[in-house]
Amino acid sequence: MIKLKADYVVTMNEKNEILLNAEVLFSDKIIDIGYNLPGKSIYLGKNSVIMPALINTHTHLEFSQNKTSLNYGDFITWLDSVILSREELFISCKGECYKNAIEEMKKSGVCAFGEISSSGNDLKYLKHSPLKIVYFNEIIGTNPAIVDAMYQDFLNRLNESEQIQNEKFKIGVSIHSPYSVHPILMDKIITIAKEKNLPIQAHFMESKAERSWLDKGEGEFKIFFEKHFKNAKPLITPMEFLEKFENTNTTFIHCVYANEKELQKISELKASIAHCPVSNRLLNVGKLDLERVKNFSINYSVATDGMSSNYSLNIFKEIRAALLMHTDLHPKYLAKDLLKSVTINAAKQLNLNNGSIEKGKDADLITFKLPDKIKEKDFIPIHIILHINEVDNLYINGEKI
Ligand SMILES: [Zn+2]
Repeated sequence: MIKLKADYVVTMNEKNEILLNAEVLFSDKIIDIGYNLPGKSIYLGKNSVIMPALINTHTHLEFSQNKTSLNYGDFITWLDSVILSREELFISCKGECYKNAIEEMKKSGVCAFGEISSSGNDLKYLKHSPLKIVYFNEIIGTNPAIVDAMYQDFLNRLNESEQIQNEKFKIGVSIHSPYSVHPILMDKIITIAKEKNLPIQAHFMESKAERSWLDKGEGEFKIFFEKHFKNAKPLITPMEFLEKFENTNTTFIHCVYANEKELQKISELKASIAHCPVSNRLLNVGKLDLERVKNFSINYSVATDGMSSNYSLNIFKEIRAALLMHTDLHPKYLAKDLLKSVTINAAKQLNLNNGSIEKGKDADLITFKLPDKIKEKDFIPIHIILHINEVDNLYINGEKI
C-alpha cells in the first residue's frame, strides 16, 4: 500500500472536487481519499498535485516516424502526401520509433491510449507497452471485389491481438470512416463489436470535402477518388452511417463538419466524440463546435491523433492548444472540461476503470508540481494546463512506471 499526500488532490470525480493538503491511499486500486488515512504518508512537496493519469483516446503510432514528410494546410493536399509516404513511414517505424512515441506520452502523464492499427505491424512493438493500450483493429476499403479478402485480413489481425489480451492490453475495432469502408464491412465489424462488447472508433465528418462527398457526391473528394479509384460513388449517407451504431460504445473522431441533426443522433446513441485540435488546425479543416457538443451533452475527449497530423504526442500540449483555440469559450470553465476530456470522459470511451480518484478505481495516477501556489481552487485546472508539460511520477495499477 502507498499513501501520497499533496497540496492539491484533483479528483475528477462527479462533483469535480479538489481537496487541499489531502491524501490518497492505494494498492493496485484506490483504497481511500481524504485526511488522516492509516499508514505513513509520502508528502510530495510544495505546490504538489495528485490527479488521475491522463488518457490519449486516439493515436496512429504507425505514423510515428513522420516529422517533415507530410504536407499541411489543406485536407486533400495532406491526404495526397499521406498516400505517397504511407508505406515508407510504416516500414521505417520499428522498435525505437514505437518506444520513443510511448515515452513521449508517458512523460506527459499518459497511462493509457487508444491505438488505431491499420496494418497490424505495430502489434509486436506494442504488446509489451508499459502503458495501457486499447488496440483498435481498423478496417478500410470500399472495393466490393475484395470485401471478403479484407474482412479475412481484419479477422486475422483481430484474432492475433485477441490472443495477447491482458490487464493492460485490451482490444477494440475501428471503421475508418463513412467514405472509405464498404457498408457490408461496416455491418460485419459492428456485429463483432456487439458480440464481444468491444469499443468502436470511427472518423466522422473531418473535412468539408467529406461533407460535400457524402451529401452530394461532389467536391474535392470526387476529384480525389477519380484519381485513385474509378467510378467511385458515396456508398452511404452520414445519417445511415450513424444509425448503424445503435447499442454500441462508439467514439466518432473529429466531427468538425457534423451538423445539428448528426450531433443530436450522436447524443441519442450515447456515443462520444474525440476532438483532435492540432490535427484539425494543421489540416486546416476548422474547429469542432464544442459549445454545441456540450449542449447536446455529448461526452468528448481530446486526443493527439497520430504524428501524421501532429508535431507531438504530448497530451498537455494538446489540451493547451484546445484552450487557446476555442476563443468563444470562457478559459476558466473550458480548462475544467479539458481536464475531464483526458481523464474521466476518455476512460468511458475506452471502457477503462480509471480517469478519476475514487474508491475502487484503478490506481492510475500522476503527480507533478505547479510553479507556485494557487489562491483560488477554481483556477487550478487552467494553471495545470498552462504550466505542466511533463509529470514527476506516473503510477499504473499502483505501480510506479
Ligand atoms: Zn485519426
